[in-house]
Amino acid sequence: MSEGEALLALAEQDLAIARAEKQLDEVPEKRAVLQLRKRLREIEAVKDRAEAYCRKSDALVNRSNDEAESIQLKIDAEQAKVMSGEVTNPKELQNLTREIDALRRKKDAVEHAEIGLMEKAEEGLAQLAKVEAALAEGYEKERVLIEEFKAKGGELQTEIVRLKETRARVAGDLTPLLLARYESLRETKHGIAVGELVGDLCSACRTAIPAHEAQAIQAGPPIAECPNCRRLLVAGRDSR
Ligand SMILES: [Zn+2]
Repeated sequence: MSEGEALLALAEQDLAIARAEKQLDEVPEKRAVLQLRKRLREIEAVKDRAEAYCRKSDALVNRSNDEAESIQLKIDAEQAKVMSGEVTNPKELQNLTREIDALRRKKDAVEHAEIGLMEKAEEGLAQLAKVEAALAEGYEKERVLIEEFKAKGGELQTEIVRLKETRARVAGDLTPLLLARYESLRETKHGIAVGELVGDLCSACRTAIPAHEAQAIQAGPPIAECPNCRRLLVAGRDSR
């Protein structure tokens, strides 16, 4: 392999490595995992709200229970007064009876409202169960996607290792000086250090080189420099 060919082969390997590395970044499963995680954070927020709703509903039901109980205690106390025989005044007895009736109505109203509260609490629990099921499903999907990503990413990583080995072999065909120049150009020229002269076009910058210069490059040493982009320029394979 001539040095010009080795140079072009090296550029080819580097391009393949860059592509594989980009592919690794863009494995669909990786994107899918990121999207899914965003969705899972949203569902987790819904779950937090559903839990808060359930706690609030429970608290309301409990408060309603306590209220009904405390009314019952009052009813019991008033009734005990009536039964004790201590109150003999008919007017007073009538007042007590009225009070007991009013307390019973109040208790009924509280208990009636409590049924509504309990229904809401149940709805909240059902909603929470749905959200928890969606989350569990999402976590499972995430686990599967991560496994798929590892499998696909693993293939790409193996491929990258293989490409880098080939690259090292090809790089060994270049003189250290040329290799150093190649590397420094790669850094300053967006990863592409070498062009091929095809006709009068530099394949790297795709600019036509004046005919007499192109002819001089074809006739001169196998490795020149593009007068436009200043990359290494290898005379086209067809013309050699
Ligand atoms: Zn060029």
